[in-house]
Amino acid sequence: MKLARYRPRDTVDFVVIGSGAAGGVVAKELSTQGFSVVVLEQGPYLREKDFAHDELKTFRQGVLINDWEKQPNTFRKSPEEKAMRQPAVFYGRQVGGGTVHYTANLWRFHEVDFEERSRWGTVAGASLEDWPVRYSDLEPYYTKVEQELGVSGEAGLSPFDPPRSQPYPLPPLPVKRCGAIFERVTRQMGLHPFPAPLAILSQPYRGRAACTQCAFCKSFGCEVRAKSSTLATVIPVAEGTGRCEIRSGCYVRKIETNADGRVTGAIYFDGRGREVMQKARAVVLCANGAESPRLLLLSRSSRFPDGLANSSGLVGAYFMVDTGVSVRGMFERPLNDHKGPHVSRVIHDYYDSDAKRGFWGGGGIDARFDWYPINFALDGMPGDVPRWGAGYKAALKEYFPRSMSLLAHSTCLPVESNRIDLDPDLKDAWGLPALRMTYRNHPDDLKVLHFLKDRATEILEAAGAKKIWSRKIEELTFTGHLMGTCRMGNDAARSVVDRNHRAHDVRNLFVVDGSSFVTCGRQQPTCTIHALAYRAADSMAAAARKGEI
Ligand SMILES: Cc1cc2nc3c(=O)[nH]c(=O)nc-3n(C[C@H](O)[C@H](O)[C@H](O)COP(=O)(O)OP(=O)(O)OC[C@H]3O[C@@H](n4cnc5c(N)ncnc54)[C@H](O)[C@@H]3O)c2cc1C
Repeated sequence: MKLARYRPRDTVDFVVIGSGAAGGVVAKELSTQGFSVVVLEQGPYLREKDFAHDELKTFRQGVLINDWEKQPNTFRKSPEEKAMRQPAVFYGRQVGGGTVHYTANLWRFHEVDFEERSRWGTVAGASLEDWPVRYSDLEPYYTKVEQELGVSGEAGLSPFDPPRSQPYPLPPLPVKRCGAIFERVTRQMGLHPFPAPLAILSQPYRGRAACTQCAFCKSFGCEVRAKSSTLATVIPVAEGTGRCEIRSGCYVRKIETNADGRVTGAIYFDGRGREVMQKARAVVLCANGAESPRLLLLSRSSRFPDGLANSSGLVGAYFMVDTGVSVRGMFERPLNDHKGPHVSRVIHDYYDSDAKRGFWGGGGIDARFDWYPINFALDGMPGDVPRWGAGYKAALKEYFPRSMSLLAHSTCLPVESNRIDLDPDLKDAWGLPALRMTYRNHPDDLKVLHFLKDRATEILEAAGAKKIWSRKIEELTFTGHLMGTCRMGNDAARSVVDRNHRAHDVRNLFVVDGSSFVTCGRQQPTCTIHALAYRAADSMAAAARKGEI
């Protein structure tokens, strides 16, 4: 296979910035449709041989995620405060982005997730809006995601599932003990459990091996390619076209524009810290819900003094995160659930908002065991067990094999003052302004969590857990699901990109990733990011063929 290699002065059709859930798909679609593509990815190009079951290195030291020493963040709760240096966002920083190290829950959004405003009206203190696309627009692309990437699951078991044109291409993964308990008890309670859809192969698929049940999914890369990351799936296809170059170790600092206000390419620091400009006819920004708005703000110029694509002032606004609460239970008998992919069964019975509850929002609850030995020893047990000596050892022996978690994954309202922008003082290792996060949960976000925590506790009680515990629900200051900062919409004054991800202000600039979300669904955004990317690439390719870019 001859890999494409372009010179920076060659004007390629598309530069794609970031190679994660969105960037990998966009690169594959554009290159297979005949366009020349350069993908600029700041992280390294790791291969399966680089992934290891080393909990200290991978999980505790975070070798697959962004490095807050080199790329620091600051955080504050409100615009009136001075932000303090602390880790605020985390994401996969390598070719494949977050899909390399994620847990691989690949759940479609439901119809309501695209039309919250029409269904529920306004919510005080939030900017609830409908999306300019609906579930029916995305359904063919959700199907494409499942078929092309490989998703294991079983359709038709949940009455709350949105309509689908095809079943999952692979059957569900084996049920875990926590899943079996959850399934039995929730059925008895009149609820509707179903197997968690996972981007992990239950059987060999398209030349890739099935899952070996090693259980190193969350935060780890999969060394047998059973996790359907963009690294294992679409990126090799893109490279195989001979038209797509994946250029790793390239940290983009600016999207360049000319006097006409058109994008001309991207300027990046290469591995040796030299500045390079890659020329392109169009740029597709796929750097995620935190880094995409940061890069647009870094790309200001005399023509765009407030940042690129920011005439609305909304680049970075309506930042949304993953809200969730974990309730844990310890049982009399061992479950030994440290094997297999983490998540096993889910319910969506509380997915929709319900006016009777008195607040907006809802969510799902899943049964999982997503602990590794060291992590469990440090954070997995209740606060009242001994933390040292013989008592600690006895507790570990008792709790590790007998515990399971119920994770409630929930909603988060879009609030205009919740933002990603540039810190005025702190710089990163390349001298660029650090990412600043301003975030305070809307009160309804926390009310939903209390509601779901109570439901999860009821399930564990009905299951006969010997001990049940959870952390106090607190406002969020740190997150790995990054959404909503370059909102899509039909009105250029109230959104950053249009329904096809084209920036309202710049004709040959597209933003495709978690930042386009208008509302946040109920966690697990990646299936929707993939689907949006397939759809956006189709429309970009059609526009390019008609000479409209
Ligand atoms: C521990 C963990 C578990 C998760 N589990 C799940 C799950 O089970 N299900 C789910 O749906 N979601 C999960 N997520 C979230 C998931 O990883 C993200 O939703 C998804 O990867 C986002 O896709 P994206 O394309 O928007 O961005 P990313 O996948 O983050 O890709 C962006 C890429 O752009 C690169 N980049 C950024 N800035 C620049 C720059 N200036 N120059 C060059 N390159 C740049 C980054 O290095 C990265 O590779 C998890 C996240 C974490 C942290």
